Amino acid sequence: MTQESTTMESERHVFQADVARLLHLMVHSIYSERDIFLRELISNAADACEKLRYEANSNPSLLGEGESFAIRVILNAENGTLAVEDNGVGMAREDLTTALGTIANSGTRVFLEKMTASGKGAAELIGQFGIGFYSAFMVADRVVVETRRAGEDVAWRWSSDGKGEFEISPLALEDAPRHGSRVVLHLNEDSKAYLEPGRVESIIGEHSSAVATPIDLLDTPTAEPRRLSEGAALWTKPKSEITEEQYREFYQELSGQFDSPALTVHWRAEGRAEYAVLAFVPGSRPFDLFDPARKGRTKLYSRRVLISRDSDLLPGYLRFVRLVVDSPDLPLNVSREMVQESPLFAAIKKGVTNRLLQELGKLAEMDREKFLTIWKNFGAVIKEGLYEDPERRDPLLKMARFATTTSQDGTRTLADYVSALRPNQTAIYYLVGENAERIAASPQLEGFRARGIEVLLLSDPVDAFWVQTAAGVDGKPFKSATQGAADIKTVELLDGAKKPDEPASAFADLISRAKETLATVVEDVRISDRLSESLACLVAPEFGPDLRLQQILAAHGQSAMDMKPVLEINPAHPLVISLETLMKRSESELFEDAVWLIFDEARLLDGAPPNDASAFAARLTRILSKALAT
Ligand code: ADP
Ligand code: MG
Repeated sequence: MTQESTTMESERHVFQADVARLLHLMVHSIYSERDIFLRELISNAADACEKLRYEANSNPSLLGEGESFAIRVILNAENGTLAVEDNGVGMAREDLTTALGTIANSGTRVFLEKMTASGKGAAELIGQFGIGFYSAFMVADRVVVETRRAGEDVAWRWSSDGKGEFEISPLALEDAPRHGSRVVLHLNEDSKAYLEPGRVESIIGEHSSAVATPIDLLDTPTAEPRRLSEGAALWTKPKSEITEEQYREFYQELSGQFDSPALTVHWRAEGRAEYAVLAFVPGSRPFDLFDPARKGRTKLYSRRVLISRDSDLLPGYLRFVRLVVDSPDLPLNVSREMVQESPLFAAIKKGVTNRLLQELGKLAEMDREKFLTIWKNFGAVIKEGLYEDPERRDPLLKMARFATTTSQDGTRTLADYVSALRPNQTAIYYLVGENAERIAASPQLEGFRARGIEVLLLSDPVDAFWVQTAAGVDGKPFKSATQGAADIKTVELLDGAKKPDEPASAFADLISRAKETLATVVEDVRISDRLSESLACLVAPEFGPDLRLQQILAAHGQSAMDMKPVLEINPAHPLVISLETLMKRSESELFEDAVWLIFDEARLLDGAPPNDASAFAARLTRILSKALAT
């Protein structure tokens, strides 16, 4: 929303439409979590220091002699202001419009929806969506930013009441920081408590003590600064000197989340590649977990200088892990792309991935409950690795948890499955679908149940893919319960399961007539091993792709693999006998209607619409009129 005019005059700008709404919401609906504004401003100040530390590496003149980074929080009870000041990189004029004037984040709309819809805490959401600066308007009726970009000889004053507009005007250099920003909050009536040093000190202690830049508090503008936090880089310390609380604070700072990490891994690799790693598996799921465009929060340092924030240090299926990696051997004065292409980077990436999988695997064995909470949050993502990373498929398969027909709560491992194989069972059976309950109700499973054969109920999008490429476990291949002939006849029925009265061959005529009738829509019609209650179901032909995989592909506009299904009929169902009688009485119209309805019913059970809705309705009406007339 920039207006044309000479840059030396004061200008008015209008916030993006969403921003105005957002500000209103933040100020009015999330009153109770206002404390977090301070954490957000301090975190921005720390970011600005890290940016300058990095730039100064190739351009030392940006920093004064012996200058060290610090964040100052300055209270001024007389003016009713609280300021957060940093000697970081500062903002140029464009930064003020782009960074502070728009919430240039695709998540804004989602954020708004969540805010209004959910009862979720705003604190949690603000960090997740990267709109921290605006939280200042929860406590201030005016926010003024005085800033000077390092290396520039102009400074700016940005000011807004958060009601929809902001103003930028030039600032005399003597009123500006030498480089860096001063964010001044004119506290509103309800927020004067933030002028009390004790209060501010405790908020900083609680939320910001893990920030890597030192923090000073000035009780009045002229008071001596008091150091509240040393700004130590936690990952450089030995594990034995770090408390769980410190890890948690560091995690919260890194991830922008307010929960506790579900797993903390801290190690130092020595040898050819030297690096320190501090990694966390979050305790809850971030909102954009499934957005592939969104990278993980991984920070890459070289001797405590931040090189990049979102480096591709982790494979996509571990993108939920938050971590810091610091290696003294990483080159500083080259571009981020070059760093990522270096052999050292590749070695670190491999080492970190292996170690994380090892730790996850260990946890899966040692503490099933704890691992399960991680799996519930991130299992769907981890499973992408089964497909993307064949080299590490074995450890991934080993830790994977499944809902099965034996236990739908998603806690079964493949080892559990294999130890419960039935005599003569030749494969690990699975069924893919939208959700476990719905899959569990599929007629295709009846024959498996009748034989006590466990079936994996796979309901994540990636499931349909990895099962196609994974080799199996203990010599047992993965096989879809909807694919090919079921091959389960050799497994004995459990006591009490129904056996068909007639041998399958008795229905040869019926089967061939049904096949003729449905020739345009099915590949084959046959007697089923896999049904015991329902009349019919659809399955994939022997070498065709799984039916649900076809549905998923079709939904993504890929119908190249469109193959006709096979209709299987349950010989033990009483209707089959009636159908046979009907056929023999040569009432061909009624017979054909019945066969078509059976086919459409099988489609419905698979979650697909009838083949031809109006023909379906006409047939149903004909049959109903007959049935009701007698
Ligand atoms: P985020 O920090 O997630 O990017 P914020 O709303 O907190 O989102 O900040 C928006 C942007 O404003 C930052 O990315 C940064 O470019 C800029 N910014 C905010 N505070 C400062 C500061 N103290 N120094 C330099 N830039 C800042
Ligand atoms: Mg921020």
